Amino acid sequence: MARYTGSVCKLCRREKQKLFLKGQKCFSEKCPIERRNYPPGQHGLNRRAKISEYGIQLREKQKIKRTYGVLETQFYTYYEKASRQKGRTGENLIKMLERRLDNVVYRLGLAPSRKAARQLVGHRHVIVNNHLVDIPSYIVDPGDVIKVTDKSKKLDMIHNSLKRVKDNLYSWLQIDKASLSGTFLQVPERSEIPLNANEQLVVELYSK
Ligand code: SF4
Repeated sequence: MARYTGSVCKLCRREKQKLFLKGQKCFSEKCPIERRNYPPGQHGLNRRAKISEYGIQLREKQKIKRTYGVLETQFYTYYEKASRQKGRTGENLIKMLERRLDNVVYRLGLAPSRKAARQLVGHRHVIVNNHLVDIPSYIVDPGDVIKVTDKSKKLDMIHNSLKRVKDNLYSWLQIDKASLSGTFLQVPERSEIPLNANEQLVVELYSK
């Protein structure tokens, strides 16, 4: 499957905000956004071009895609599904992205970033409801229990990552650090999801 392999910090600088793509580094002084919060490239600091309405909508879409690590085709598929559901399309879109297994593993604190969570899932370290699931885009349902496989419980990456997570940081997730497992209690409301983005602009962009 296609994936972005360039510098992820450049993606944050392009959006001029932290997208938290690098785990621990994102919370340290080494984060490039702390020192160079302007777009990358030779003219990044001096670029003053007036951004069009289309440009604003495009940037918002890119920000959401990059945050969740989803490429265009898959993102548009999520949008189409969201538009067929009841309720506001933009909110449905974000809720669906939140239910991806790689995102849930990240939010539970079992991995330091969504990218690391995706690898954890892809490398067969994660069980959902007692079944091994190696598809990062797997959609988690309310009540699903997510665990680390027995053979993977010694992985330092998981234990180091869990240290950064406060107990039950998110109201829709229940974490049991001792057993390296968690439960997805319910689909969160959009207002509960910590994502600094305006998904309505994505809806406007795709509706043109
Ligand atoms: Fe973004 Fe994290 Fe890199 Fe900072 S360290 S620019 S938040 S990916």
